[in-house]
Amino acid sequence: MRVLALDIGGSRTKWAVFQGGEMVESGAFPTPRDPDALLRSVRGKEAHRIAVAFAGFAHEGTVAFSPNLPEYQGVRLADLISRETGARVILENDANCFVLGEALRGAGRGAICVLGLTLGTGIGGGLVIDGRLYRGAGFALEPGHTIVDPDGPPCACGSRGCLESLIGERAFCARFGYPSARKAAEAKDEKAWDFYGHWLGIALANFINILDPDAVVLGGGVAGAIGLFWSSMMAAVESGTVKWKMRKTRLVRSELGEHAALWGGYILAANPGH
Ligand SMILES: [Zn+2]
Repeated sequence: MRVLALDIGGSRTKWAVFQGGEMVESGAFPTPRDPDALLRSVRGKEAHRIAVAFAGFAHEGTVAFSPNLPEYQGVRLADLISRETGARVILENDANCFVLGEALRGAGRGAICVLGLTLGTGIGGGLVIDGRLYRGAGFALEPGHTIVDPDGPPCACGSRGCLESLIGERAFCARFGYPSARKAAEAKDEKAWDFYGHWLGIALANFINILDPDAVVLGGGVAGAIGLFWSSMMAAVESGTVKWKMRKTRLVRSELGEHAALWGGYILAANPGH
């Protein structure tokens, strides 16, 4: 079976073709702001199934909410792509695809309960239990909007002190005066990265207390700086977790990197039961 996977992000769209369970081709292009332009880019593509990992809430094939790609909001993307290609199309949130890929083909292999976090402009996440995505009543796992400091800064979601309002890349860079997290990493700014690790660790401690996952996989662009925030993150995880020493939780960095969500999309398209 030939599967095309797309990972549509706020600025770039990555794609890959899978055949016989392996990735045989991949690439990337700038995400068109106009959904019609995206449809033109997939017209005539040969695939039995197509998986679309999307940066936003996806519900029954429709983009329900997307702060980074508002032009796609309300678009019935799965149906429209299906019409252009004749393929069966599934649409899923990109962080869900990321964690599914990591749980089954990446750093979470062999674990029963895998929590994944994507660290970037937003802080996304997903949860895989026994090889299947946990979706709650529809929109589970928004770790970026976990409130870690009720007196903290306002968040784009309307709440205050969400993890994302503190360490989402934009907020973090604005606070410490960097144009990007990459620049903050190059500067090895200890104060900035201690701050980052501290708040991330507090959120992780809360998640671990509730879920007791056997693996937590950290991905997204800012995970590249993990060496700089690791010790402050672990200090907060250990002090905020009940019986940390008794737990088996492994905290690991993504193994599939840029391809994690493409793999997760492929797994969903090939086995719709996930
Ligand atoms: Zn929020």
